[in-house]
Formats: sequence, C-alpha cells, structure tokens
Amino acid sequence: RGTTPETPDARPRLTVLSGPSGVGKSTVVAHMRKEHPEVWLSVSATTRRPRPGEKHGVHYFFVTDDEMDKLIANGELLEWAEFAGNRYGTPRTAVLERLESGEPVLLEIDLQGARQVRESMPEAQLVFLAPPSWEELVRRLTGRGTEPPEVIERRLAAAKIELAAEPEFDVTLVNTSVEDVARELLALVDVV
Ligand code: 5GP
Repeated sequence: RGTTPETPDARPRLTVLSGPSGVGKSTVVAHMRKEHPEVWLSVSATTRRPRPGEKHGVHYFFVTDDEMDKLIANGELLEWAEFAGNRYGTPRTAVLERLESGEPVLLEIDLQGARQVRESMPEAQLVFLAPPSWEELVRRLTGRGTEPPEVIERRLAAAKIELAAEPEFDVTLVNTSVEDVARELLALVDVV
C-alpha cells in the first residue's frame, strides 16, 4: 500500500479478519487482546443462542429474530450475513465512531460480511485466516464438541466454499501457531 498525494493517510484503520468457521479466528483474536486489550474489537449482534461462558455485550449481543429484523430494517448494521442458520451483523455506529476518532478497528466476521465491507469501505484491509490443512480444519470443527453433528456438517460445507475465497483477500495468515498469528495480526491492525 503506497501513500499518494490524493490519499495522504492510506493507513488501513479498518481490518477485517475472516476465514472458515473453526479455523481459529476467535482464539487468535482473544489471544491478541489478552496481551493488547487496547485493540478494539467490534461486538456483533447474533440470533445464535449463547454457548456456555459467552456473555451478552462481550462476545455478542444476543438478539431475537425480531430484534435482528429491526436492526437490519433501520440500517443499523454495517454488514450482516446468515451463517449456518443464524444471522450475524456488525453494529454500524460504534465502528464509525471509533474510525472517526482515528482508532484502529478490528472485525472478526464471515466471508459474506467481509465482501460487504470490501464494497462499502474499499479502504479496509481484508485478512484471511487459513488452516494449516483441510484435515486440520475438519479436526478442529469436529473437536469443538459444542455443536450437534448436523451443525458441524453445515459448517464444514460452508468452510469448503470459504476456503476458495482466499485470493479475494489482501493478506493471508496461516494458523499454525496461535501466538505467531496473533503477533502477525497485531502488526497488521496496528499498522501506522
Ligand atoms: P460463531 O457462531 O462460531 O460465533 O460464528 C460463526 C461465524 O459467524 C464465524 O465465521 C464468525 O466470524 C461469523 N461472524 C461473527 N460475527 C459476525 C458479524 O457480525 N457479521 C458476519 N458477517 N459474520 C460474523
């Protein structure tokens, strides 16, 4: 990314981390934020039920279908997508306020959402988190142990399609080690 006179500040301020379900996006982000809590992560709204340990307003805003309908109808989401039978979306205002104050913003969203952000905010930096191998991804999706088999099947089907999207992204990080990838992501988010 060069700096040109037309865009004196071409530094990416909005970073989107995407990649197949189960690749470890949230683990990497959690690891990075444990060391660097100052990195601001957008909290998404979702119609999915909370998993054990997930807190409203921290991991997600857990909303009803009606509430999600309203968020969408009122244009309150920067992007949203249906994933494995549930809807997920990024609240617009919090992200824009943060960007306006010059602070970096990180979104951890699915591929459909990443594409919408690319359209509406072409200056965003799109980062793809890839698994070390397909076998490893299957192992991780199956091993989470929190989802029924039919949910895992749907996520594997989605992951196959998502893997093919890698060339659309600006940067690819391969998730061989959480520590290494968290460090690489921090450098990308914090790029000045
Ligand atoms: P999970 O149910 O495992 O928390 O998330 C399922 C998928 O939804 C993951 O790929 C996650 O990145 C994605 N996701 C989470 N929040 C959002 C969001 O606000 N928008 C979109 N498009 N995807 C999201």
